[in-house]
Amino acid sequence: MPRSGRALKAYREKRDFRHTPEPRGAVAKAKGNSYLIQKHDARRLHYDFRLELDGVLKSWAVTRGPSLNPRDKRLAVRTEDHPLQYGEFEGIIPKGYGAGTVMLWDQGTWHPKGDPQEGLRKGALKFVLRGKRLNGGFALIRMRKKGDKRENWLLVKERDDEADEKHDPTKQWATSVVSGRSLDTIAKHGATLDKNDRVSDAAPMTPARKKSAQNSHSCRRSSRLSAMSLPPVVTSCMRSSSTAIASSPWSEGTGCA
Ligand code: MN
Repeated sequence: MPRSGRALKAYREKRDFRHTPEPRGAVAKAKGNSYLIQKHDARRLHYDFRLELDGVLKSWAVTRGPSLNPRDKRLAVRTEDHPLQYGEFEGIIPKGYGAGTVMLWDQGTWHPKGDPQEGLRKGALKFVLRGKRLNGGFALIRMRKKGDKRENWLLVKERDDEADEKHDPTKQWATSVVSGRSLDTIAKHGATLDKNDRVSDAAPMTPARKKSAQNSHSCRRSSRLSAMSLPPVVTSCMRSSSTAIASSPWSEGTGCA
């Protein structure tokens, strides 16, 4: 199986590509180190924490969001790798799996300390974030308990100049890092319209629009993000409800994580 098939296997299994124009999610060839957080107002509010590695977005759902206080240990449930296109999604996931509003909360780059593949494997990933909001050293540490069906990690701020015990970043910044919009505004108006794509994200998917969306997702373009990727993402989330992980209390909360 090609590398891209393995890396995005879970992502693909949750989606029915006979019914969604969403890309199969080929792994990007470019070596990037983007970082982003999406605030996801699903049945259970959470923050989707994503780190680009090996052409995909490694992902964790952080219930309470990040903290700058090194004493806080924030539960971060590992979710499936996502294609890079997902990283610019801001808008509404319609009724179904993961339904709710998604806001781009932070964007930037991450800089692993040591070998990131080994860190992931061993359950101790240390890195520096250079985001528009979050900066400094952080660690993701995997907790191991017998019988765990999910990968439970902890997101912890390291002690450095960017540590801050007084300010809660999730309260300090309540609006979108890209559009400046509140969750309520995004919920009302959906995705920001790209000048080349006048169709509202909340509008039903017409056949013509599906075709257009499909065309925008060639593998060649998959390494870069574009506003054109929004409609397929929304559609895929509607379709994935039947394949949700039923045993996980996170099924809805981290759907389309
Ligand atoms: Mn999510």
